[in-house]
Amino acid sequence: MKSNIHAGHDAQGKGASGASSYIDGIGWIHESIEDRNVKDEVIRLLKEENNITYDCTVDSAGTQDKNLSQIVAKCNAHDVDLDVSIHFNSGRDDEDGDGDNAGVEVYCYDEKTKDIAERICKNISKLGFDNRGVKIKKDYYVLRKTKAPAILIECCFIDDKDDVLLYKKVGYKAMAKAIVEGILNEKLDNKINSNTSQVSSTNKFKNGDYTGKKARVTANVLNVRWDRGTNFNIIGKLKKNDVVKLNYCMSGWVSIEGYKGNKGLGYIHTDYIELL
Ligand SMILES: [Zn+2]
Repeated sequence: MKSNIHAGHDAQGKGASGASSYIDGIGWIHESIEDRNVKDEVIRLLKEENNITYDCTVDSAGTQDKNLSQIVAKCNAHDVDLDVSIHFNSGRDDEDGDGDNAGVEVYCYDEKTKDIAERICKNISKLGFDNRGVKIKKDYYVLRKTKAPAILIECCFIDDKDDVLLYKKVGYKAMAKAIVEGILNEKLDNKINSNTSQVSSTNKFKNGDYTGKKARVTANVLNVRWDRGTNFNIIGKLKKNDVVKLNYCMSGWVSIEGYKGNKGLGYIHTDYIELL
């Protein structure tokens, strides 16, 4: 999956920042800070899952119109499957908290991204936020002007004390994970554990011949490429615990049998496998 990810608005204090709100007992909360926290973690998680991801955030356009047109220009410079815009909502005007959270909503231009949007709403609602649902919006600039199918996520409300308390409790990492699991339609559980084993397994692979040896996949999903590098086409996907027959390792990429890529093989990164 190739995607463009961006946080909405200019960076906090650098021009056309997003909404801000003062919540009694919490203090100031700024959309442009929180959307970037979530955005950075979304990108990190997508990359960890071997997805090509571009950060199309614009930090200091000066005006909201310029911010939007620069974001769209960045997005349309890449050929991707999906554009994702990350925002925090406002307009509930419940800074004191009424015991009711306001929740998440996701906007789509058309039906193409409805499934992804529904999954994201569902995942975020599992964190405790109300599911305000998916809305089709034809007039949102980012949705209308981006070439690839797009979604705009309003994670939760920054002017609703109940939302902010819940958001502070679950954290931006959980918010990002809910989004990425919705985008990829998969669970990212045990990522921390598998990371640890990835680090140790990386060191075990050296350049050279591995013919006759096997390895087990440690990532939840591992892309098989046409050749050594993420710039090559994905020609297959492996699941966690799949066992592959190795061929030759070079620069962290090992060729495997059973695929029809370059030289009649497939190529996977050794960070995501362990030698058997
Ligand atoms: Zn916004």
